[in-house]
Amino acid sequence: MLAWVVITALVLSDTCQAATSPRPNILFIMTDDHATQAIGAYGSRVNQTPNLDRLGAQGLRLDRCYAVNSICTPSRATLLTGQYSHRNGVPVFNDIDPARTTVAHRMRDSGYYTAMIGKWHLGSDPQGFDHWEILPGQGRYNDPVLYDRDGHRIYKGYVTDIITRLTRNVLQKRPKDRPFFVMCHHKAPHREWTPSDRYRREFALKTIPEPPTLWDDHVGRADALREQRQSIFKNLSRYDLKLTPPEDLSPTDRQRWLNEVPTEVSWMIDGQPTVLRGRDLDRWKYQRYMQDYLGCVQSVDDSVGELMEWLDANGLRENTLVIYTSDQGFFLGEHGMYDKRFMYEPSSRMPFLARWPAGIRPGSTSEALAINCDFAPTFLDLAGARIPEDMQGRSLVPLFQGKRPAEWRSEIYYRYYHDPGHHNTRAHYGIRTATHKLIHYWKADQWELFDLVQDPDELRNRFGDADQAERVAHLRQRLRKLQTELGDTGQFTDELPKDTVDRRPRQMDRKHPDSEL
Ligand code: CA
Repeated sequence: MLAWVVITALVLSDTCQAATSPRPNILFIMTDDHATQAIGAYGSRVNQTPNLDRLGAQGLRLDRCYAVNSICTPSRATLLTGQYSHRNGVPVFNDIDPARTTVAHRMRDSGYYTAMIGKWHLGSDPQGFDHWEILPGQGRYNDPVLYDRDGHRIYKGYVTDIITRLTRNVLQKRPKDRPFFVMCHHKAPHREWTPSDRYRREFALKTIPEPPTLWDDHVGRADALREQRQSIFKNLSRYDLKLTPPEDLSPTDRQRWLNEVPTEVSWMIDGQPTVLRGRDLDRWKYQRYMQDYLGCVQSVDDSVGELMEWLDANGLRENTLVIYTSDQGFFLGEHGMYDKRFMYEPSSRMPFLARWPAGIRPGSTSEALAINCDFAPTFLDLAGARIPEDMQGRSLVPLFQGKRPAEWRSEIYYRYYHDPGHHNTRAHYGIRTATHKLIHYWKADQWELFDLVQDPDELRNRFGDADQAERVAHLRQRLRKLQTELGDTGQFTDELPKDTVDRRPRQMDRKHPDSEL
């Protein structure tokens, strides 16, 4: 009887709340590898992103939002579980356990219509979604295949445009009696950075400014920076640089040619075929890389504009929270690199722009430290659902309201595992405060300390400096405390799960019954 009274009271209070302030719809747009350095709202020197800038100007920009393991699959698992990799079991490219309850189940259980479109990259099928249609693994840029429970379809066209269209269709056909939680996950601007034809042509004519740290000599930093293989100059292949193979090569030789890193390139400059070597070639590689990367970003910006306009035109502007983020940052030539993985700022920092006219004042910004573990608790908070205790982030809703609670976190913990792995990036963990960062490459037992105020580009390792000894001791103690609090006992120190997420999904073996192709 008592239980019934309590349940009735809860139902009534939910109903009352719904009548006065309906829960917001959530459109969560996430791209893959889009760094803040390539977003106008974050002060980009390399491109213009009018739609993303508008999203930020009409709402909130978080200036210190970080991935806790800066790599695609783990970041996605953290997004869904609100947990660090050592808790959610996805430290590398291994499948998320499909039996695990995620934020999608919880949003659906709390009455939301849930959908997931685009890049999933978590191996096992999405769970907890009323509707899903995803790319297999990384997916293709052109004429991509997408699949759902019933099979696969091939869509003619450019992947960013297709994911936008599919998201719009989902929004259009959604049940109107429930709020929605729709995840639109773009593949772009992930490697191999294939822009649409329009933006390929447009960006090929541009000269992109070089970042001040492009020619960083890595002196004084850990060996990890010299051992990595994510150098624009030493590791981008002819395939990455979109060079055309000679016509007379056999298929095997053609593949080998594409996989090689060129040490000289013949290129038309001012109408003249010119052979590029050395520093000239390095500069050219940076330009080729950035032209393609930024061309991909431009379609993403268009997509965000199109989705915002659709919401506005359909009377959904006021009470829909639109979030734009990326699964991590990316090196756009900083320290001479591409890719991510490192705890350095360009790679671990995530964009976070959010518009919600009913709940966020336009032009808001916050420097509070946020992490991708916070996203799931934020969604649940907005849904009025319980935030489970095993989630390791906290709701960002107070930041939406322009408040920073007194007990807000003053430091964040980071851990990267994929070693040995792609790009030979060494495993490491570390702590970041508002002003400093301490990193431990634990296999070689090497440390880095950066003063982020004096040295925002992270060029000067202060770890061994006598005047920093006290700070180092304090940060090491805080780091150990964070590891204890978060339950990181080195679960994956000795053995990593196998990389499995890129294997062919079984739905790919059958054509979708609705497929027109
Ligand atoms: Ca990524």
